[in-house]
Amino acid sequence: MTIDAAELRRRTAQLLAAHPPATTDRLEFLKARFDAGLAWVHYPEGLGGLGVPRSLQAVVDAELEAAGAPDNDSRRNGIGLGMAAPTILKYGTEEQKQRFLRPLWVGEEVWCQLFSEPGAGSDLAALGTRAVREGDDWVVNGQKVWTSGAHNSRWAILIARTDPDVPKHAGITYFLCDMTDPGVEVRPLRQITGEAEFNEVFLTDVRIPDSCRLGEVGDGWRVAQTTLNNERVAIGGMRLPREGGMIGPVSKTWRERPELRTHDLHQRLLKLWVDTEVSRLTAERLRQQLVAGQPGPEGAGMKLAFARLNQEISGLEVELRGEEGLLYDDWTMRRPELVDFVGRDAGYRYLRSKGNSIEGGTTEVLLNIVAERVLGLPSEPRTDKDVAWKDLAR
Ligand SMILES: Cc1cc2nc3c(=O)[nH]c(=O)nc-3n(C[C@H](O)[C@H](O)[C@H](O)COP(=O)(O)OP(=O)(O)OC[C@H]3O[C@@H](n4cnc5c(N)ncnc54)[C@H](O)[C@@H]3O)c2cc1C
Repeated sequence: MTIDAAELRRRTAQLLAAHPPATTDRLEFLKARFDAGLAWVHYPEGLGGLGVPRSLQAVVDAELEAAGAPDNDSRRNGIGLGMAAPTILKYGTEEQKQRFLRPLWVGEEVWCQLFSEPGAGSDLAALGTRAVREGDDWVVNGQKVWTSGAHNSRWAILIARTDPDVPKHAGITYFLCDMTDPGVEVRPLRQITGEAEFNEVFLTDVRIPDSCRLGEVGDGWRVAQTTLNNERVAIGGMRLPREGGMIGPVSKTWRERPELRTHDLHQRLLKLWVDTEVSRLTAERLRQQLVAGQPGPEGAGMKLAFARLNQEISGLEVELRGEEGLLYDDWTMRRPELVDFVGRDAGYRYLRSKGNSIEGGTTEVLLNIVAERVLGLPSEPRTDKDVAWKDLAR
């Protein structure tokens, strides 16, 4: 049967009739939506979708929004939805997909990403966290860092070294790690905004059953590429209405406070407004191109633009507001569940956007990716690619 927009509307109406949002518990509604295949329509049947083009999601979302139905508050589980889910979909066993995707999508289980380490950020493949096989389990020891949301997370995507005797990219395996394991210790890291969105995570004799390995032993680097390519699209390519991002608050101030305007600021704001719109529409096109496929290195370009624009726009906003822009009234070490650029003040936006050119791959590293994999320019010299990880200088 062909599932087109009309059929999706019919199925959405059926869901609403069977589970009226006004009288149905939020979680129950979300589970019923998942089971009806209306959660992420491009996912396969039985896993929250119907195997139809991703662009048709908008049809379902519009009907549900008009009916006042609850959504899954996707910003609270950005790593789960944007990165863990597509990786599980691509590499997971049937059992793993059935176990993890539903609670992830409805938001019952929030996910974090245990990738970066104190000695392995841009050079992620150099990571030293060890996983050693013991019977049906893997025993994991090591330290991760900058783990966003680890304090709220039930599960983590984790990469660890399972073979130190082969070159660094070859000896890595990908796992799904239970954050409630007694060997997982989460400590806050306070950042420039005063808050602690992220953490250091210490892993001491954490036991991960082999059934929570994602992909083959030693194939973790390839599996992680799916996560990382999706991360860049999730960070830089999110769907926004016009003026929905950083440009919104500064445009509002510009309209409401004519006394702050100068000719120079006007020219800069106009240019940034146009750049933002170009970037927003390019992200839309990228999402349409992806349909149900996996993103490639093009996502790096979106993330580069996102970081540059956020930093320039928030800088302009602070300048526009003059002394007011320098005020920052809350240095409490909070543990926010999500990053909310638009709901906070100008000082927050300015400080928080500094991290945009580091998270999800630094600007320099993403430029290398675009140069090599999009433009086909010669790659950086890699002297360590044939050396066993254990023999690398660290
Ligand atoms: C807000 C935020 C949230 C984060 N959340 C997570 C998370 O949830 N999970 C997680 O695993 N990690 C997370 N990270 C970590 C992030 O992925 C790393 O910080 C990032 O990959 C850079 O690694 P690093 O900090 O070790 O810097 P380094 O790799 O040490 O880089 C230092 C500097 O050297 C430059 N550099 C390095 N290599 C090259 C090169 N080959 N060519 C040119 N320049 C180079 C970099 O661009 C940078 O300027 C987060 C970071 C931030 C800021």
